[in-house]
Amino acid sequence: MRTFPIFVRFDGKPPLVVGGGPLAAIKTRLLLKRADRVDVAAEGLNPELSSLEAEGKVVMQPAHPDMDQIRGRPLVISATEIEDEDARIAEIARALGVPVNVPDRPALCTAALPAIVDRGEVTVAIGTSAAAPVLAQRLRAWLENELHPRLGDLAELAGQFRERVAGSLAEGTGRRRLWEKIFDGPAAQAMLHGDEETARKLIDREIESAASAGNDAAHAPHGRVFLVGAGPGDPELLTMKAIRALKAADVVLYDKLVGDGVLELARREAELISVGKAKGAHSVPQPEINALLVARAKAGRTVVRLKGGDPFIFGRGGEELDALRAENIAVEVIPGVTAGAAAAASLQIPLTHRDVSHTVTFVSGHEAGGKAPSFEHLDLKALASGNNTLVVYMGVTTGAVIAQRLLEAGFREALPVIAVENASRPNERRVATTISTLANDADSLGLNSPAVLIFGEVAGLPAAGAVETILAHEEVARAYA
Ligand code: SAH
Repeated sequence: MRTFPIFVRFDGKPPLVVGGGPLAAIKTRLLLKRADRVDVAAEGLNPELSSLEAEGKVVMQPAHPDMDQIRGRPLVISATEIEDEDARIAEIARALGVPVNVPDRPALCTAALPAIVDRGEVTVAIGTSAAAPVLAQRLRAWLENELHPRLGDLAELAGQFRERVAGSLAEGTGRRRLWEKIFDGPAAQAMLHGDEETARKLIDREIESAASAGNDAAHAPHGRVFLVGAGPGDPELLTMKAIRALKAADVVLYDKLVGDGVLELARREAELISVGKAKGAHSVPQPEINALLVARAKAGRTVVRLKGGDPFIFGRGGEELDALRAENIAVEVIPGVTAGAAAAASLQIPLTHRDVSHTVTFVSGHEAGGKAPSFEHLDLKALASGNNTLVVYMGVTTGAVIAQRLLEAGFREALPVIAVENASRPNERRVATTISTLANDADSLGLNSPAVLIFGEVAGLPAAGAVETILAHEEVARAYA
Protein backbone atom coordinates (compact mmCIF):
# COMPACT_ATOMS: atom_id res chain seq x y z
CA MET A 1 0.00 0.00 0.00
CA ARG A 2 1.26 3.50 -0.81
CA THR A 3 2.20 5.71 2.09
CA PHE A 4 0.92 9.18 2.86
CA PRO A 5 3.56 11.82 3.62
CA ILE A 6 3.23 13.96 6.74
CA PHE A 7 5.65 16.02 8.82
CA VAL A 8 5.78 15.13 12.49
CA ARG A 9 6.82 17.27 15.46
CA PHE A 10 9.13 15.76 18.04
CA ASP A 11 8.56 18.29 20.79
CA GLY A 12 6.58 15.99 23.06
CA LYS A 13 7.76 12.55 24.08
CA PRO A 14 11.01 11.75 22.21
CA PRO A 15 11.12 9.15 19.46
CA LEU A 16 12.47 5.73 20.41
CA VAL A 17 15.19 3.79 18.64
CA VAL A 18 15.55 0.16 19.63
CA GLY A 19 19.06 -1.26 19.24
CA GLY A 20 22.53 0.03 20.05
CA GLY A 21 24.53 -0.96 16.95
CA PRO A 22 25.61 0.89 13.82
CA LEU A 23 22.18 0.72 12.15
CA ALA A 24 20.55 2.19 15.25
CA ALA A 25 23.21 4.90 15.25
CA ILE A 26 22.43 5.86 11.63
CA LYS A 27 18.73 6.16 12.42
CA THR A 28 19.39 8.11 15.62
CA ARG A 29 21.56 10.57 13.73
CA LEU A 30 18.74 11.03 11.22
CA LEU A 31 16.17 11.70 13.95
CA LEU A 32 18.48 14.17 15.65
CA LYS A 33 18.18 16.40 12.59
CA ARG A 34 14.80 17.37 14.02
CA ALA A 35 14.58 15.91 17.54
CA ASP A 36 16.42 17.47 20.50
CA ARG A 37 16.59 14.10 22.16
CA VAL A 38 16.23 10.49 21.10
CA ASP A 39 15.62 7.61 23.51
CA VAL A 40 17.64 4.51 22.66
CA ALA A 41 16.64 1.17 24.14
CA ALA A 42 19.63 -1.19 24.13
CA GLU A 43 21.89 -3.33 26.24
CA GLY A 44 24.91 -1.34 25.17
CA LEU A 45 25.70 1.62 22.92
CA ASN A 46 28.23 1.71 20.12
CA PRO A 47 30.83 4.51 20.22
CA GLU A 48 28.77 6.98 18.18
CA LEU A 49 25.66 6.50 20.33
CA SER A 50 27.80 6.70 23.50
CA SER A 51 29.20 10.04 22.50
CA LEU A 52 25.68 11.29 21.66
CA GLU A 53 24.66 10.11 25.12
CA ALA A 54 27.53 12.06 26.63
CA GLU A 55 26.25 15.16 24.80
CA GLY A 56 22.80 14.60 26.28
CA LYS A 57 21.20 13.98 22.88
CA VAL A 58 20.63 10.30 23.51
CA VAL A 59 19.03 8.91 26.65
CA MET A 60 19.53 5.24 27.20
CA GLN A 61 16.52 3.07 28.04
CA PRO A 62 16.30 -0.57 29.15
CA ALA A 63 16.66 -3.09 26.34
CA HIS A 64 13.62 -5.06 25.11
CA PRO A 65 11.08 -2.28 25.62
CA ASP A 66 7.54 -3.21 26.50
CA MET A 67 4.21 -1.49 25.94
CA ASP A 68 4.81 1.18 28.54
CA GLN A 69 7.98 2.35 26.85
CA ILE A 70 6.39 2.40 23.42
CA ARG A 71 3.04 3.99 24.25
CA GLY A 72 2.70 7.65 23.26
CA ARG A 73 5.87 7.80 21.13
CA PRO A 74 5.64 9.91 17.98
CA LEU A 75 7.77 7.26 16.22
CA VAL A 76 9.57 4.02 17.01
CA ILE A 77 12.42 2.68 14.89
CA SER A 78 13.37 -0.88 15.61
CA ALA A 79 16.94 -1.43 14.46
CA THR A 80 18.04 -4.34 16.65
CA GLU A 81 18.84 -6.35 13.51
CA ILE A 82 17.39 -9.36 15.33
CA GLU A 83 14.40 -10.52 13.33
CA ASP A 84 12.18 -11.74 16.17
CA GLU A 85 12.89 -8.74 18.36
CA ASP A 86 12.14 -6.30 15.55
CA ALA A 87 8.92 -8.16 14.81
CA ARG A 88 7.93 -8.07 18.50
CA ILE A 89 8.52 -4.31 18.71
CA ALA A 90 6.62 -3.72 15.46
CA GLU A 91 3.67 -5.72 16.77
CA ILE A 92 3.44 -3.80 20.03
CA ALA A 93 3.72 -0.46 18.22
CA ARG A 94 1.09 -1.46 15.72
CA ALA A 95 -1.27 -2.54 18.51
CA LEU A 96 -0.77 0.79 20.26
CA GLY A 97 -1.17 2.81 17.06
CA VAL A 98 2.38 4.12 17.35
CA PRO A 99 4.06 4.64 13.95
CA VAL A 100 6.86 2.12 13.58
CA ASN A 101 9.68 1.65 11.13
CA VAL A 102 11.94 -1.37 10.78
CA PRO A 103 14.77 -0.69 8.33
CA ASP A 104 14.60 -2.86 5.21
CA ARG A 105 11.53 -4.76 6.43
CA PRO A 106 8.63 -2.92 4.79
CA ALA A 107 6.13 -5.59 5.86
CA LEU A 108 6.72 -4.66 9.51
CA CYS A 109 6.47 -0.90 8.98
CA THR A 110 3.52 1.40 9.43
CA ALA A 111 5.78 4.38 8.76
CA ALA A 112 8.41 4.87 6.07
CA LEU A 113 11.44 7.08 6.48
CA PRO A 114 11.83 9.31 3.44
CA ALA A 115 15.01 10.39 1.74
CA ILE A 116 15.45 13.96 2.93
CA VAL A 117 16.73 17.15 1.38
CA ASP A 118 17.35 19.42 4.33
CA ARG A 119 17.33 23.20 3.96
CA GLY A 120 16.38 24.15 7.49
CA GLU A 121 12.81 25.41 7.40
CA VAL A 122 12.45 23.79 4.00
CA THR A 123 12.44 20.03 4.06
CA VAL A 124 11.84 17.89 1.00
CA ALA A 125 10.92 14.32 1.79
CA ILE A 126 11.02 11.71 -0.96
CA GLY A 127 9.31 8.37 -0.68
CA THR A 128 8.81 5.50 -3.08
CA SER A 129 6.65 3.36 -0.76
CA ALA A 130 9.71 1.10 -0.40
CA ALA A 131 9.51 0.15 -4.08
CA ALA A 132 12.73 1.84 -5.19
CA PRO A 133 14.92 3.31 -2.44
CA VAL A 134 17.79 3.84 -4.86
CA LEU A 135 15.55 5.92 -7.09
CA ALA A 136 14.68 8.03 -4.05
CA GLN A 137 18.38 8.58 -3.44
CA ARG A 138 18.90 9.65 -7.06
CA LEU A 139 16.06 12.13 -6.78
CA ARG A 140 17.54 13.41 -3.59
CA ALA A 141 20.90 14.01 -5.26
CA TRP A 142 19.17 15.86 -8.07
CA LEU A 143 17.18 18.04 -5.66
CA GLU A 144 20.29 18.76 -3.62
CA ASN A 145 21.69 20.32 -6.78
CA GLU A 146 18.52 22.16 -7.73
CA LEU A 147 17.62 23.72 -4.40
CA HIS A 148 19.56 26.77 -3.37
CA PRO A 149 21.62 26.19 -0.21
CA ARG A 150 20.10 29.31 1.41
CA LEU A 151 16.51 28.30 0.72
CA GLY A 152 15.97 27.58 4.40
CA ASP A 153 17.14 31.10 5.33
CA LEU A 154 14.65 32.53 2.86
CA ALA A 155 11.83 30.50 4.39
CA GLU A 156 12.86 31.57 7.87
CA LEU A 157 12.89 35.22 6.86
CA ALA A 158 9.45 34.86 5.29
CA GLY A 159 8.27 33.29 8.54
CA GLN A 160 9.32 36.43 10.39
CA PHE A 161 7.06 38.54 8.15
CA ARG A 162 4.05 36.25 8.27
CA GLU A 163 2.24 37.95 11.10
CA ARG A 164 2.76 41.37 9.65
CA VAL A 165 1.44 40.27 6.28
CA ALA A 166 -1.56 38.66 7.94
CA GLY A 167 -2.22 41.92 9.76
CA SER A 168 -1.98 44.09 6.64
CA LEU A 169 -3.72 41.98 4.01
CA ALA A 170 -6.89 39.91 4.14
CA GLU A 171 -6.49 36.20 3.54
CA GLY A 172 -6.88 35.13 -0.07
CA THR A 173 -5.68 36.10 -3.50
CA GLY A 174 -4.03 39.40 -2.54
CA ARG A 175 -1.98 37.84 0.19
CA ARG A 176 -0.92 34.94 -1.97
CA ARG A 177 0.08 37.28 -4.82
CA LEU A 178 2.22 39.26 -2.40
CA TRP A 179 4.08 36.15 -1.33
CA GLU A 180 4.51 35.06 -4.94
CA LYS A 181 5.97 38.48 -5.72
CA ILE A 182 8.36 38.19 -2.81
CA PHE A 183 9.52 34.68 -3.67
CA ASP A 184 9.77 35.35 -7.42
CA GLY A 185 11.36 38.79 -7.15
CA PRO A 186 14.46 40.67 -6.03
CA ALA A 187 13.76 40.21 -2.31
CA ALA A 188 14.25 36.47 -2.56
CA GLN A 189 17.26 36.93 -4.82
CA ALA A 190 18.89 39.24 -2.28
CA MET A 191 18.31 36.75 0.51
CA LEU A 192 19.68 33.88 -1.53
CA HIS A 193 22.78 35.98 -2.19
CA GLY A 194 23.18 36.38 1.54
CA ASP A 195 22.09 40.03 1.67
CA GLU A 196 19.50 39.90 4.41
CA GLU A 197 19.36 43.64 4.98
CA THR A 198 18.37 44.41 1.39
CA ALA A 199 15.94 41.50 1.41
CA ARG A 200 14.21 42.90 4.50
CA LYS A 201 13.90 46.36 2.94
CA LEU A 202 12.46 44.94 -0.26
CA ILE A 203 9.94 42.81 1.60
CA ASP A 204 8.92 45.84 3.66
CA ARG A 205 8.31 47.80 0.49
CA GLU A 206 6.30 44.97 -1.13
CA ILE A 207 4.08 44.64 1.92
CA GLU A 208 3.41 48.36 2.05
CA SER A 209 2.54 48.65 -1.61
CA ALA A 210 0.37 45.52 -1.50
CA ALA A 211 -1.44 46.79 1.58
CA SER A 212 -2.27 50.17 0.03
CA ALA A 213 -3.25 48.58 -3.30
CA GLY A 214 -5.29 46.01 -1.36
CA ASN A 215 -7.25 48.73 0.37
CA ASP A 216 -8.08 50.43 -2.94
CA ALA A 217 -8.99 47.14 -4.48
CA ALA A 218 -11.20 46.21 -1.56
CA HIS A 219 -13.93 48.31 -3.13
CA ALA A 220 -13.59 46.84 -6.59
CA PRO A 221 -11.77 43.52 -6.67
CA HIS A 222 -10.42 42.62 -10.09
CA GLY A 223 -10.63 39.01 -10.98
CA ARG A 224 -9.55 37.62 -14.28
CA VAL A 225 -10.35 34.60 -16.36
CA PHE A 226 -8.02 32.38 -18.32
CA LEU A 227 -9.67 30.35 -21.06
CA VAL A 228 -7.22 27.50 -21.15
CA GLY A 229 -6.81 24.66 -23.60
CA ALA A 230 -6.06 21.54 -21.58
CA GLY A 231 -5.06 19.48 -24.62
CA PRO A 232 -6.28 15.96 -25.35
CA GLY A 233 -5.53 14.41 -21.95
CA ASP A 234 -1.80 13.82 -21.59
CA PRO A 235 -0.55 16.51 -19.17
CA GLU A 236 2.76 16.62 -21.05
CA LEU A 237 0.88 18.27 -23.88
CA LEU A 238 -0.04 21.31 -21.80
CA THR A 239 1.62 24.62 -22.58
CA MET A 240 3.80 26.27 -19.96
CA LYS A 241 1.31 29.13 -19.86
CA ALA A 242 -1.49 26.69 -19.08
CA ILE A 243 0.52 25.28 -16.19
CA ARG A 244 1.25 28.73 -14.85
CA ALA A 245 -2.43 29.69 -15.02
CA LEU A 246 -3.37 26.48 -13.18
CA LYS A 247 -0.87 27.25 -10.45
CA ALA A 248 -2.33 30.73 -10.04
CA ALA A 249 -6.00 29.80 -10.13
CA ASP A 250 -8.35 30.24 -7.18
CA VAL A 251 -11.10 28.52 -9.12
CA VAL A 252 -10.93 25.95 -11.90
CA LEU A 253 -14.00 25.13 -13.97
CA TYR A 254 -13.31 22.06 -16.04
CA ASP A 255 -14.97 19.89 -18.65
CA LYS A 256 -15.36 16.14 -18.51
CA LEU A 257 -12.74 15.66 -21.23
CA VAL A 258 -9.96 17.26 -19.18
CA GLY A 259 -7.43 14.61 -18.14
CA ASP A 260 -7.02 13.76 -14.45
CA GLY A 261 -3.28 14.38 -14.62
CA VAL A 262 -4.00 17.92 -15.82
CA LEU A 263 -6.26 18.74 -12.88
CA GLU A 264 -3.59 17.56 -10.50
CA LEU A 265 -1.49 20.52 -11.55
CA ALA A 266 -4.02 22.95 -10.08
CA ARG A 267 -3.18 24.62 -6.80
CA ARG A 268 -4.25 22.33 -4.00
CA GLU A 269 -6.42 24.98 -2.35
CA ALA A 270 -8.19 25.87 -5.59
CA GLU A 271 -11.92 25.35 -5.87
CA LEU A 272 -12.46 22.70 -8.56
CA ILE A 273 -15.82 22.79 -10.30
CA SER A 274 -16.80 20.13 -12.82
CA VAL A 275 -19.15 21.48 -15.43
CA GLY A 276 -19.61 18.16 -17.22
CA LYS A 277 -19.98 18.51 -20.96
CA ALA A 278 -19.60 14.84 -21.78
CA LYS A 279 -22.12 13.77 -24.36
CA GLY A 280 -25.14 12.19 -22.71
CA ALA A 281 -23.92 12.83 -19.17
CA HIS A 282 -25.37 15.52 -16.96
CA SER A 283 -23.71 18.81 -17.65
CA VAL A 284 -24.09 22.37 -16.50
CA PRO A 285 -25.96 24.41 -19.15
CA GLN A 286 -23.78 26.94 -20.97
CA PRO A 287 -25.54 30.05 -19.58
CA GLU A 288 -24.88 28.76 -16.06
CA ILE A 289 -21.20 28.22 -16.85
CA ASN A 290 -21.01 31.76 -18.21
CA ALA A 291 -22.72 33.08 -15.09
CA LEU A 292 -20.34 31.14 -12.81
CA LEU A 293 -17.30 32.52 -14.61
CA VAL A 294 -18.62 36.06 -14.32
CA ALA A 295 -19.58 35.71 -10.66
CA ARG A 296 -16.25 34.25 -9.55
CA ALA A 297 -14.23 36.81 -11.49
CA LYS A 298 -16.30 39.66 -10.09
CA ALA A 299 -15.58 38.35 -6.62
CA GLY A 300 -11.91 39.04 -7.37
CA ARG A 301 -10.93 35.47 -8.13
CA THR A 302 -8.40 34.21 -10.61
CA VAL A 303 -10.47 31.80 -12.63
CA VAL A 304 -9.25 29.15 -15.02
CA ARG A 305 -11.79 27.81 -17.47
CA LEU A 306 -10.19 24.56 -18.51
CA LYS A 307 -11.38 23.01 -21.75
CA GLY A 308 -10.37 19.83 -23.53
CA GLY A 309 -8.15 20.39 -26.56
CA ASP A 310 -8.18 23.97 -27.76
CA PRO A 311 -10.76 26.34 -26.26
CA PHE A 312 -11.65 27.79 -29.65
CA ILE A 313 -12.21 24.54 -31.52
CA PHE A 314 -15.72 23.22 -30.85
CA GLY A 315 -15.28 24.36 -27.28
CA ARG A 316 -17.87 27.15 -27.06
CA GLY A 317 -14.97 29.32 -25.96
CA GLY A 318 -16.37 32.15 -28.06
CA GLU A 319 -19.61 32.26 -26.07
CA GLU A 320 -17.76 32.39 -22.77
CA LEU A 321 -15.52 35.10 -24.10
CA ASP A 322 -18.54 37.19 -25.13
CA ALA A 323 -20.13 36.80 -21.70
CA LEU A 324 -16.94 37.92 -19.97
CA ARG A 325 -16.33 40.83 -22.31
CA ALA A 326 -19.89 42.02 -21.79
CA GLU A 327 -19.04 42.34 -18.09
CA ASN A 328 -15.66 43.99 -18.71
CA ILE A 329 -13.76 41.12 -17.16
CA ALA A 330 -10.13 40.68 -18.18
CA VAL A 331 -9.67 37.49 -20.19
CA GLU A 332 -6.61 35.72 -21.47
CA VAL A 333 -6.88 32.84 -23.91
CA ILE A 334 -4.28 30.09 -23.80
CA PRO A 335 -4.39 27.71 -26.75
CA GLY A 336 -4.23 23.97 -26.39
CA VAL A 337 -3.42 20.97 -28.56
CA THR A 338 -6.64 20.10 -30.32
CA ALA A 339 -7.71 16.45 -30.45
CA GLY A 340 -7.24 16.21 -34.24
CA ALA A 341 -3.65 17.39 -34.01
CA ALA A 342 -2.96 15.06 -31.08
CA ALA A 343 -4.41 12.09 -32.97
CA ALA A 344 -2.32 12.90 -36.03
CA ALA A 345 0.83 13.24 -33.96
CA SER A 346 0.21 9.98 -32.20
CA LEU A 347 -0.38 8.13 -35.49
CA GLN A 348 2.52 9.98 -37.10
CA ILE A 349 0.20 10.78 -39.95
CA PRO A 350 0.33 14.37 -41.18
CA LEU A 351 -3.03 16.10 -41.67
CA THR A 352 -1.72 17.88 -44.72
CA HIS A 353 0.77 16.28 -47.03
CA ARG A 354 2.54 17.64 -50.09
CA ASP A 355 1.47 14.70 -52.24
CA VAL A 356 -2.04 13.84 -51.09
CA SER A 357 -3.68 16.62 -49.10
CA HIS A 358 -3.38 20.38 -49.32
CA THR A 359 -6.15 21.40 -46.95
CA VAL A 360 -7.58 20.23 -43.70
CA THR A 361 -11.11 20.85 -42.51
CA PHE A 362 -12.22 20.40 -38.91
CA VAL A 363 -15.94 19.66 -38.69
CA SER A 364 -18.33 18.81 -35.91
CA GLY A 365 -20.28 15.58 -36.24
CA HIS A 366 -23.21 17.11 -34.41
CA GLU A 367 -25.47 20.00 -35.05
CA ALA A 368 -27.21 21.90 -32.28
CA GLY A 369 -29.85 19.60 -30.82
CA GLY A 370 -27.67 16.51 -31.20
CA LYS A 371 -28.56 15.80 -34.84
CA ALA A 372 -26.17 14.51 -37.48
CA PRO A 373 -24.86 17.45 -39.44
CA SER A 374 -26.35 18.40 -42.77
CA PHE A 375 -22.97 19.72 -43.94
CA GLU A 376 -24.97 22.34 -45.83
CA HIS A 377 -22.25 24.87 -45.24
CA LEU A 378 -19.59 22.63 -46.76
CA ASP A 379 -18.86 22.33 -50.45
CA LEU A 380 -18.85 18.54 -50.32
CA LYS A 381 -18.49 18.19 -54.07
CA ALA A 382 -15.25 20.15 -53.98
CA LEU A 383 -14.00 18.13 -51.01
CA ALA A 384 -14.93 14.90 -52.82
CA SER A 385 -12.44 15.67 -55.55
CA GLY A 386 -9.70 14.72 -53.11
CA ASN A 387 -6.53 16.42 -52.00
CA ASN A 388 -7.93 17.28 -48.59
CA THR A 389 -8.39 15.89 -45.12
CA LEU A 390 -11.56 16.03 -43.10
CA VAL A 391 -11.30 15.71 -39.32
CA VAL A 392 -14.62 15.01 -37.64
CA TYR A 393 -15.08 15.76 -33.94
CA MET A 394 -18.05 14.46 -31.94
CA GLY A 395 -18.77 12.01 -34.75
CA VAL A 396 -18.88 8.63 -33.01
CA THR A 397 -22.66 8.20 -33.05
CA THR A 398 -23.19 10.04 -36.34
CA GLY A 399 -20.23 8.53 -38.20
CA ALA A 400 -22.33 6.25 -40.39
CA VAL A 401 -24.66 9.05 -41.49
CA ILE A 402 -21.72 11.32 -42.17
CA ALA A 403 -20.01 8.65 -44.25
CA GLN A 404 -23.22 8.15 -46.28
CA ARG A 405 -23.48 11.87 -46.98
CA LEU A 406 -19.87 11.94 -48.12
CA LEU A 407 -20.41 8.95 -50.41
CA GLU A 408 -23.50 10.63 -51.89
CA ALA A 409 -21.41 13.71 -52.54
CA GLY A 410 -18.96 11.60 -54.55
CA PHE A 411 -16.22 10.57 -52.08
CA ARG A 412 -14.67 7.35 -53.37
CA GLU A 413 -15.84 4.18 -51.59
CA ALA A 414 -12.42 2.97 -50.61
CA LEU A 415 -11.28 6.32 -49.21
CA PRO A 416 -9.35 5.57 -46.00
CA VAL A 417 -10.76 6.63 -42.65
CA ILE A 418 -8.89 6.33 -39.40
CA ALA A 419 -10.52 6.86 -36.04
CA VAL A 420 -8.57 7.61 -32.87
CA GLU A 421 -10.23 7.17 -29.50
CA ASN A 422 -8.74 8.78 -26.42
CA ALA A 423 -5.82 10.24 -28.30
CA SER A 424 -2.73 10.76 -26.08
CA ARG A 425 -4.26 8.85 -23.17
CA PRO A 426 -3.10 5.47 -21.89
CA ASN A 427 -6.24 3.85 -23.34
CA GLU A 428 -5.78 5.28 -26.84
CA ARG A 429 -7.26 3.06 -29.56
CA ARG A 430 -7.04 3.39 -33.33
CA VAL A 431 -9.21 1.82 -35.98
CA ALA A 432 -8.56 2.03 -39.72
CA THR A 433 -11.35 1.47 -42.22
CA THR A 434 -12.95 2.94 -45.33
CA ILE A 435 -15.84 5.29 -45.88
CA SER A 436 -18.06 2.51 -47.22
CA THR A 437 -17.47 0.29 -44.17
CA LEU A 438 -18.21 3.19 -41.90
CA ALA A 439 -21.39 3.96 -43.88
CA ASN A 440 -22.67 0.39 -43.92
CA ASP A 441 -21.28 -1.29 -40.84
CA ALA A 442 -20.21 1.34 -38.32
CA ASP A 443 -20.91 -1.04 -35.43
CA SER A 444 -18.05 -3.31 -36.49
CA LEU A 445 -15.64 -0.53 -35.54
CA GLY A 446 -16.83 -0.56 -31.91
CA LEU A 447 -16.01 3.11 -31.55
CA ASN A 448 -16.40 4.92 -28.26
CA SER A 449 -16.22 8.60 -27.36
CA PRO A 450 -14.13 10.64 -27.31
CA ALA A 451 -12.81 9.96 -30.78
CA VAL A 452 -11.88 11.88 -33.88
CA LEU A 453 -12.40 10.49 -37.37
CA ILE A 454 -9.91 11.40 -40.05
CA PHE A 455 -11.16 11.07 -43.65
CA GLY A 456 -8.75 11.34 -46.55
CA GLU A 457 -5.79 9.81 -48.34
CA VAL A 458 -3.53 10.67 -45.41
CA ALA A 459 -5.52 8.19 -43.31
CA GLY A 460 -4.10 5.46 -45.52
CA LEU A 461 -0.47 6.44 -44.91
CA PRO A 462 1.49 4.06 -42.69
CA ALA A 463 0.70 4.79 -39.05
CA ALA A 464 3.08 4.35 -36.13
CA GLY A 465 1.96 1.83 -33.52
CA ALA A 466 -0.90 -0.66 -33.36
CA VAL A 467 -3.93 -0.01 -35.55
CA GLU A 468 -6.97 -2.27 -35.77
CA THR A 469 -7.99 -2.66 -39.38
CA ILE A 470 -11.65 -3.25 -40.04
CA LEU A 471 -12.74 -3.63 -43.65
CA ALA A 472 -16.17 -5.22 -43.86
CA HIS A 473 -16.52 -5.20 -47.62
CA GLU A 474 -14.59 -7.63 -49.66
CA GLU A 475 -14.02 -5.45 -52.69
CA VAL A 476 -12.56 -2.80 -50.43
CA ALA A 477 -10.40 -5.34 -48.63
CA ARG A 478 -9.06 -6.37 -52.00
CA ALA A 479 -8.33 -2.81 -52.91
CA TYR A 480 -6.26 -2.56 -49.73
CA ALA A 481 -4.38 -5.82 -50.17
N1 SAH B 1 -11.97 21.70 -27.90
C1 SAH B 1 -11.75 20.29 -28.14
C2 SAH B 1 -12.92 19.63 -28.81
C3 SAH B 1 -14.15 19.59 -27.96
S1 SAH B 1 -15.48 18.76 -28.73
C4 SAH B 1 -10.46 20.11 -28.95
O1 SAH B 1 -9.92 21.09 -29.45
O2 SAH B 1 -9.99 18.98 -29.05
C5 SAH B 1 -15.32 17.14 -28.06
C6 SAH B 1 -14.76 16.21 -29.11
O3 SAH B 1 -13.36 16.36 -29.19
C7 SAH B 1 -14.95 14.75 -28.81
O4 SAH B 1 -16.24 14.32 -29.16
C8 SAH B 1 -13.90 14.13 -29.67
O5 SAH B 1 -14.31 14.12 -31.02
C9 SAH B 1 -12.78 15.13 -29.55
N2 SAH B 1 -11.80 14.75 -28.52
C10 SAH B 1 -11.49 15.41 -27.40
N3 SAH B 1 -10.50 14.79 -26.73
C11 SAH B 1 -10.17 13.72 -27.48
C12 SAH B 1 -9.20 12.69 -27.36
N4 SAH B 1 -8.36 12.63 -26.31
N5 SAH B 1 -9.14 11.76 -28.32
C13 SAH B 1 -9.95 11.80 -29.39
N6 SAH B 1 -10.88 12.74 -29.56
C14 SAH B 1 -10.99 13.69 -28.62
